Amino acid sequence: MSHCPFCKKKIAMSKAFCSRSCKENYFQLIAIQIPKPFMRRIFVQANEEQRKEEIEKFAKIHDWRLDLLQNKIEEMAIEMKYIEDPYKDR
Ligand SMILES: [Zn+2]
Repeated sequence: MSHCPFCKKKIAMSKAFCSRSCKENYFQLIAIQIPKPFMRRIFVQANEEQRKEEIEKFAKIHDWRLDLLQNKIEEMAIEMKYIEDPYKDR
């Protein structure tokens, strides 16, 4: 057994992903690059509402899926210590 690299579901060894959409999402997620100054701007200088707007604008400019971008931003924010990892204690 192997695991889908996007959703972590168990899949047959012969497959690389569990579905076409996971494959697409996976490569889109890899393509998402977020500059550190953007992170600093939205987490240090913006309030929560402005942050939401900035993220939506950013997704639209690059034609990225908003939920994928939000995931990636959250991941980076935890790494950069702007927010606490909500799954840390689980
Ligand atoms: Zn999957």
